[in-house]
Amino acid sequence: MTLALSKGRIFEETLPLLAAAGVEVAENPEHSRKLIIPTSDPALRLIIVRASDVPTYVQYGAADLGIAGKDVLIEHAAEHPGGLYQPIDLNIAKCRLCVAVPAGFDYVKAVHQGARLRVATKYVQAAREHFAAKGVYVDLIKLYGSMELAPLVGLADAIVDLVSSGGTLRANNLVAVEDIMPISSRLVVNQAALKTRGARLQPLLDAFQKASAALCIPQG
Ligand code: ATP
Ligand code: MG
Repeated sequence: MTLALSKGRIFEETLPLLAAAGVEVAENPEHSRKLIIPTSDPALRLIIVRASDVPTYVQYGAADLGIAGKDVLIEHAAEHPGGLYQPIDLNIAKCRLCVAVPAGFDYVKAVHQGARLRVATKYVQAAREHFAAKGVYVDLIKLYGSMELAPLVGLADAIVDLVSSGGTLRANNLVAVEDIMPISSRLVVNQAALKTRGARLQPLLDAFQKASAALCIPQG
């Protein structure tokens, strides 16, 4: 079995879930630079891919399973509808998808007056749906990172971006003015693998389900 995931926060936050399933990972991709990582379970290996490529590996069956943010899954689904089975919210890599503007920009007034907003974002699909539901006209400008810069140099009036502590927004004199949705990472499963290798995958799915449910309960 092959599990696709990205290095960084998703890898780090997946380790405890794997441990709960009795799986140890000997190497950290951050240091080893290896893209295929064995685990203590001879039947399970990890592959390390870009966060936004995880759904692609799983959809084509190059990985049986993957872990990806809801943000990534929404954008992927827009281009490849119906390909992925999404059984479990893992409750990891949690943040919020928000609209943010420069401090002092009157967002409510701009929206109320029916102004046409220029919005820069990596999350074009989620942003399009959000503003369409509000009846706000937007010109969406696709970026691949550092969205915070766009309103500061006149590329856009607003951004749609992921926010966790708000530190990056504050550092760039931006404020979140609207919550679009909470984001967490999901387990996705290749449909065919579930049919042909369901018996092998199921214990891992069950362990992930149990360990991620425990993450919902406030520690105290
Ligand atoms: P890349 O760095 O390769 O462009 P990325 O920025 O999407 O990709 P990560 O920063 O590792 O990669 O983010 C992976 C996932 O973690 C995102 O898709 C999102 O669901 C979640 N995430 C992103 N930023 C945060 C954050 N500040 N706090 C919590 N979770 C986050
Ligand atoms: Mg990132």
